[in-house]
Amino acid sequence: MDITSQEIESIVRQVLSGMGSAVPGTVPAQTAPSPRPVRGNPGDRGVFEDVDDAVQAAWEAQRDWVAHYKIEDRQRIVEAIRRCARSHVEEWSRKIVEETGMGRYEDKVEKHLATINKTPGPECLSTEAISGDAGLMLEEYAPFGVICSITPTTNPTETIINNTISMISGGNTVVFNVHPRAKKVCADCLQALNTAIVEAGGPENLLTMTREPTMENVDKMAANPNVRLMAGTGGTGMVNALLRSGKKCIGAGAGNPPVIVDETADLELAGRKIYEGASFDNNILCFAEKEVFAVGSACGELVRQLQKQGAYLLNAAQTEQLVKIVLQPKQGGGHEVNKKWVGQDAAKILETIGVKVPDSCRLAICQVPADHPFVLVEQMMPVLPIVCSASFDEAVEQALVAEHGNRHTASIFSKDVDHMTRFARAIETTIYVKNSATKAGVGIGGEGHCTMTIAGPTGEGITCAKSFCRRRRCMLAEGGLRII
Ligand code: NAD
Repeated sequence: MDITSQEIESIVRQVLSGMGSAVPGTVPAQTAPSPRPVRGNPGDRGVFEDVDDAVQAAWEAQRDWVAHYKIEDRQRIVEAIRRCARSHVEEWSRKIVEETGMGRYEDKVEKHLATINKTPGPECLSTEAISGDAGLMLEEYAPFGVICSITPTTNPTETIINNTISMISGGNTVVFNVHPRAKKVCADCLQALNTAIVEAGGPENLLTMTREPTMENVDKMAANPNVRLMAGTGGTGMVNALLRSGKKCIGAGAGNPPVIVDETADLELAGRKIYEGASFDNNILCFAEKEVFAVGSACGELVRQLQKQGAYLLNAAQTEQLVKIVLQPKQGGGHEVNKKWVGQDAAKILETIGVKVPDSCRLAICQVPADHPFVLVEQMMPVLPIVCSASFDEAVEQALVAEHGNRHTASIFSKDVDHMTRFARAIETTIYVKNSATKAGVGIGGEGHCTMTIAGPTGEGITCAKSFCRRRRCMLAEGGLRII
């Protein structure tokens, strides 16, 4: 592209006037190159037709966000986002069920509330200081700039709310590429949050997206120099594609969480918590219990406890009938999930094989060998396979195979500290829960903050504002400013 000297002069003037208007005490906007100095389509409260316009608008908003807003402004705007999201929880939960056709309304309400209430804001960006003979060192969390965030169909608006709070708390702005199966509710959510941000005195377009999300848009964002970080929450294919993009990425990929129940476990507790976790939102959560390895005598009693909670126990013939319906042969061998059945109610799934259960039955269970497809495939539906393992060591071996090295989530029900430690060391997952449902590991019924982006592959773990920031150091030598 040829740029005339007048155009260069105009760009320099724009940049200088932007720097001059910074409020005292704040840092002037950094001068990242803008590929399109003149903004295109203004968008509709953050929703754009063209991805370059969406990036450009988020880029301009980010310059404004870091130049003219203090940390206390970020805090105030994050609180406005929480209030806005709280007022839409029922509406968005209902719309997600309608648009994606997956999951359970009441569980989506709980997931939203955990995300809204337990995603930390700017307060988690703690400065580190070292004061010593050689001077004063400060390390702070600085923004990357514009972040591209790819969101899943399984937690669509929950991920938008969670990523928005984390990313803008760190001084970034976000261009979302949402899952096409949830694009309407995601646009509603993003527009409502942008409206709340502007009403609270924040800039327009802190959050943007394209009305039609596509893979091509993701490629364009990866190639756009104004997008500084790619964050992807979803399946393995997407995370691997991001890692190949050549850009800094945060990848939150698939899991297939195993649960071990050993002979020392409180089996009533195990039955109750596994039923609760594996049926939550019809098991579409990446961190939900996907298969159980019950050791020796624990097996029979665990099955009885799960039945007591309301689970329907499939016999061997029914189990194989169901495999043919909810799974399908995969190219190159093995099985993959038939997406039609992901996140459906247990009653609806069981109906396909002629089994009638009341709507209150949230989970089907079956007893299978460790190499059964229900154990190995991340099915994301309320059909929970239970393997009877001969020993604790065998259960650990089988759990490692089933988890596929995702290192995402695992849990154990046990009173044996040695078993708890040995499984944790072997499985190496980001989330490891003892004696509760795995959702406790993201703060839903457990301690600690909540996230919808569990970045195992790239190592950020249970993400928060810190995860989406750059560490920057300032070193003041010769003892200046020290008070001792
Ligand atoms: P998905 O991988 O089908 O889609 C996720 C997102 O990635 C969507 O926006 C989709 O459009 C996009 N996408 C897919 N392939 C892509 C590619 N090649 N390049 C760029 N973008 C691509 O996943 P889903 O069905 O929406 O979600 C379920 C999966 O996500 C499960 O495997 C689950 O375990 C995982 N998940 C992980 C986390 C986590 O925090 N680790 C959270 C939620 C879901």
